[in-house]
Amino acid sequence: MLYADLVKIYEKVEKTSKRLEMTGYLVDLFRATPVEIIDRVVYLTQGKLYPDFMGVELGMAEKLSMKAISLVSGVSIKDLEEIRKEMGDLGLVTEVVMIANETSANLKMEHLQMRNKDKEDERTTEPLTVEKVYEDIGKIASTGGSGSQKTKIDILRALLRSATPKEGKFILKTVTGKLRLGIGDMTIIDALSIAFAHKSDKKLVERAYNLHPDLGAIARSLSEGGIGSLSPEKFGMIPGIPVKSMLAERLPSIEEIIDKMRHLHVPGCALEYKYDGIRIQGHFFDKGVKLFSRRLEDLTDQFPDIKESLRESFLSEDGIVEGECVAMNTDTDEMLPFQEVSHRRGRKHGIVEAIEDYPVTLYLFDCLYVDGRDLTNEDYLTRRERLTKIIEPSDKIRISDHQIVKNSKDFEQYFEEAIQNGCEGVVAKSTESAYEAGARGWNWIKYKREYKSEMTDTVDLVVIGAFAGRGRRAGTYGALLMVSYDPEEDRFETVCKLGTGFDDETLIDLPERLRRYRIEEMDKSVISKIEADYWFTPAIVMEVLGAEMTLSPIHTCAFGEIRKNSGLAIRFPRFTGRWRDDKDPGDATTKRELIEMYGAQLKHIGKDKRTFGS
Ligand code: ATP
Repeated sequence: MLYADLVKIYEKVEKTSKRLEMTGYLVDLFRATPVEIIDRVVYLTQGKLYPDFMGVELGMAEKLSMKAISLVSGVSIKDLEEIRKEMGDLGLVTEVVMIANETSANLKMEHLQMRNKDKEDERTTEPLTVEKVYEDIGKIASTGGSGSQKTKIDILRALLRSATPKEGKFILKTVTGKLRLGIGDMTIIDALSIAFAHKSDKKLVERAYNLHPDLGAIARSLSEGGIGSLSPEKFGMIPGIPVKSMLAERLPSIEEIIDKMRHLHVPGCALEYKYDGIRIQGHFFDKGVKLFSRRLEDLTDQFPDIKESLRESFLSEDGIVEGECVAMNTDTDEMLPFQEVSHRRGRKHGIVEAIEDYPVTLYLFDCLYVDGRDLTNEDYLTRRERLTKIIEPSDKIRISDHQIVKNSKDFEQYFEEAIQNGCEGVVAKSTESAYEAGARGWNWIKYKREYKSEMTDTVDLVVIGAFAGRGRRAGTYGALLMVSYDPEEDRFETVCKLGTGFDDETLIDLPERLRRYRIEEMDKSVISKIEADYWFTPAIVMEVLGAEMTLSPIHTCAFGEIRKNSGLAIRFPRFTGRWRDDKDPGDATTKRELIEMYGAQLKHIGKDKRTFGS
């Protein structure tokens, strides 16, 4: 398949912000793609080479890629940097200098042909194929060690030599890890369902994806064998491949949680401590133990202590368990707040020291798979019993605290106990519920301390813009423009400007922290009526606590859904200091959650409920 065909689609996708149109282009692309390479086409379109859990990151340093561009175009690095400053995007710079280069080469060629009319053009460059681009970008990503810089430059240089300017633009964006077409996983799932099955089969594709989040493999299977090929044998759970986590809803009062559980005809609800840490999925299989985050990243090397302890505690052949990893004071055996465990994340160096400085314990609360059997359709109590059978607890591996409660008095008491023991609150779980991978449902309901005193829970919002700071904040940002996520439309909508809750150090660091996500124009997946001074690709998720939710004509979250010409906004938002590195932008608080929070708030302050949701 010609890379130019892929580029044609990328260009169309770049020009639209309408999800339906995007889906249409992808459907055409997937239908036209030969089955042998559809997995590679899907990964490339997502700006990747493999699914996330394989841990291969694209991100050739811009300085290196500039050297390759310079060698191909003859434009000096200094000039390239100047053009870059003007244009912002290195992909565009590549396209422009390649066009200029081609024009001057054509002029030279014409001149030569005039002198020697019989001589044919000797440039016989073969057009680039998707296979070739994928292979070479793969080589660049996997080359490391001494001398690797030169190899990377050589490969990129050769690729660009065979590329048209437009192809050059997208190769550059991909190889530097900056191909952001605004296509989310859900849009790809939609397009695959339409291309190879029926739109109504989307749920089946989604289920395969939640248990086996590899869209390339799913695409290939669908293209080869249609919807019937997504069998549980092929796309069920496999230890070693992370499963999308089940998520909890929230309610602001104990009575409402108990009512909700009654509504589900659950005789009793199980309460568990809500541990304040990092969610970890542990996989056991013949090759050993692997740990994954809820973003599906491989965390094994960051938590070798947990890996080892899990291996010792696990009493079966293979399995998948899930829990929360919490920092501990080992002298007093008390749990410490999230900030402590966050020191253990994202480290490549100093891991041995970090294990000493920030000891952790994993509190396991679920068991998804044991010895070849998928347990997700078993009920909560059965899964928990299984968990206690396959795990021999130790200091570092424990089973979550739990209690079945039948009334609000017992609930309240257990909740207070959880808080006193250093937890954030409790998670109420229906005793009869299955494990719904990738879904946020009412079978799990979280209830935190904040709900008792504040109007809103904390929310996790994505930074997509910033405003220049003045006065004391000159040189950094005065405020950030924050968005929530709408998974149905795969779009981000604004809910507040965030300017408080930053300490001096964080403030000074903000431009540097956000630098690699800077883009020239608003990202296509964002809907905003506010014009920011700087724009960012949706990437960084921050925890925010607001005083209340209000309706606002300038914010676009749930626009027109609660009241005509109004969206939802968060009043007096404050950064809690918690960077949610464990969340993808797609895991941010959703529009629907905010609508529910607004509804709950109305109930609490006794306002006219009839306006809600009408
Ligand atoms: P969410 O996970 O719902 O998107 P979040 O990451 O902001 O939101 P919280 O709102 O604090 O997290 O609560 C849900 C999270 O609580 C779970 O994802 C899990 O990581 C954690 N957790 C702690 N203890 C438990 C437990 N006993 N059962 C389930 N989840 C728990």
